[in-house]
Amino acid sequence: MDKPTLDPEDRHALVSNINLLFMLLVLAGVVVRWYALGRTSLPWPGIVFLLIFLGNAVYLSRLGSSDIAAGVLISTLTVALFVSGYNTGGFAGPIPIISPLIPIAAFLLLSLRAGFLSLMVVSLILLVLLTLHLSAKIPDNLSAETNLMVVRYVAVTLTVLITGLVASAFVNSHRKLLSKVGLSAHTDYLTGIANRRSVSLEFAKETARARRNGSWISTLMIDVDHFKRFNDINGHAEGDECLKRVANVLKNAVARPADLLGRYGGEEFIVVLIETDPLGAAKVAETLRAEVQAQNIPYEDGKSAVVTVSIGSFSSSDSGTQREDVLIKHADLALYKAKKAGRNRVVAQLPEG
Ligand code: GH3
Ligand code: MG
Ligand code: MG
Repeated sequence: MDKPTLDPEDRHALVSNINLLFMLLVLAGVVVRWYALGRTSLPWPGIVFLLIFLGNAVYLSRLGSSDIAAGVLISTLTVALFVSGYNTGGFAGPIPIISPLIPIAAFLLLSLRAGFLSLMVVSLILLVLLTLHLSAKIPDNLSAETNLMVVRYVAVTLTVLITGLVASAFVNSHRKLLSKVGLSAHTDYLTGIANRRSVSLEFAKETARARRNGSWISTLMIDVDHFKRFNDINGHAEGDECLKRVANVLKNAVARPADLLGRYGGEEFIVVLIETDPLGAAKVAETLRAEVQAQNIPYEDGKSAVVTVSIGSFSSSDSGTQREDVLIKHADLALYKAKKAGRNRVVAQLPEG
């Protein structure tokens, strides 16, 4: 709940980009400082930080954990803040730039809690720097009055607090928005079950797992019988209600948490049964068919005909056919046979050859 609700790849890209941005900032700082030092000696602390960011970039490009990389980024900046504050003896130089970046990055990349924690740490570091300066423990390169130093301290601290709070509000609202968008992108708006895209994403993972483990995977394609007629007789609104009820029945009947259920098309649903052989798939399919029929959703008031489904099933333990498109093609073929054979039934497709 606390983490940014981004897809892992987007999160990875975000951390990479911010790491690159910081690398360029530090590089600019190093060059400026080198010139300021009369191009005689190298600004070693800056170069060390630059190397750390470079290492982080290499680590990220090898698909390292974006959590760890974000942690390294923020801790490096925090140490850089203290070191540069101590070396430059005040609140000039990189301090006004680095200070607000730390909480912003923590809010954006880690979590709200880490953001607030870093806000406190930065404020504390600034306070320590001020105390050190006032007790003349750090060399004063600025030839500034004590009053000027206090004004600068207050200005930097306020900037940190304000930008930190703005970043927190921004991240918070976007996180809520992102989780809403994420939910609606994966859910079918009518029935509330997974949509085709969402099933497809999980399906790819499960077929890969089945191929690796040499395990069974079964696919059921489920289609409401004569649904066009249902709509013609009862109207589209009733048709929608009917689809919701069918989806609900399927949701309650697909019991194992690992199994996938989704709305595949208009009145077509898909079920993927993990580690399930033909016998198991036949049992589940028959249960689904019987449960829908048992709902007694009438086609027409006063008539005995009720809404039913036809189901095509295909199971495979052969890595050659354990691909989404192949499994669906075979299950579709079985569904076609079930329709031809009279509907309201389950037909299992046998592997070719
Ligand atoms: P069959 O038994 O061969 O499957 O016949 P069918 O009439 O169910 O098949 P067909 O594919 O010809 O018609 C599907 C119909 O489903 C078309 C459309 O009227 C209806 N339909 C598709 N999506 C929706 C939806 O979201 N809401 C409603 N109310 N109807 C839908
Ligand atoms: Mg259809
Ligand atoms: Mg149909």
